[in-house]
Amino acid sequence: MQLADLNWPKIQALNKDIPVVFPIAAIEQHGGHLPLFTDSMLCGEIVRRVAERLGDRVLFAPLLWLGNSDHHLDFPGTVSAPPRTYLDVLGGLLENFIQHGFKRLVFLNGHGGNEVPGKQTVFEVRQHHRSRGDLLLLFATYWSLGGQPWEQEPSLQQRQMGHACEWETSMILRLAPNLVGPLEQLPEVPFGNAFEPATRGWITKDRTVPGHIGNPRLATAEKGEALFRVFSEDVVALLERVLRWNGKDWNG
Ligand SMILES: [Zn+2]
Repeated sequence: MQLADLNWPKIQALNKDIPVVFPIAAIEQHGGHLPLFTDSMLCGEIVRRVAERLGDRVLFAPLLWLGNSDHHLDFPGTVSAPPRTYLDVLGGLLENFIQHGFKRLVFLNGHGGNEVPGKQTVFEVRQHHRSRGDLLLLFATYWSLGGQPWEQEPSLQQRQMGHACEWETSMILRLAPNLVGPLEQLPEVPFGNAFEPATRGWITKDRTVPGHIGNPRLATAEKGEALFRVFSEDVVALLERVLRWNGKDWNG
């Protein structure tokens, strides 16, 4: 069910235990070969597939295309809400829907730069409503839900999400091949190991000249379809858990 299609009396009449999903993504540079809207297109496609499966059991807000992309600002075209601004925007969305009476609120994320502010948002909003025992506030990034796409599609080389990489380029090839630039000349940009397991502050320029991280030359539309299938399945499984939650306990 799509929030944008309903009117307020219909929203008012909904059972407030329905999960509300806020898809969040970005508009930012994706190397010299993928469109700026890559993360929003990919997250939107996963939402489309998941919504088809779950029908009226879940309410989907429209995708928020503005994300925290400060690290990509050296590349033209990138648009970013700075992290503290973004934190307030996400917090405001949750507060709006808590005010409207909803209790199960889920961010479905499609951009790495949104992870820190998104997790901070669900933490802060929970503290703010500490007298409530009936709130479920979740933040989930679609490629981090446990799926191992290479088990479905053994030709996949990559084992983690990169940037405008084998995975993302494959999915855009599946969705909109006309928007994918020539891949033949693109160098492989290794993930590297920046003092792991410590977390290092970085800007994209620290890691890549062309803007991608990974090897886009490995991309195919068939791999893209396999990735969409695995990631959509993971999101459906998560939302089924949210639907099954008993409304009060820690375990879900
Ligand atoms: Zn991306």
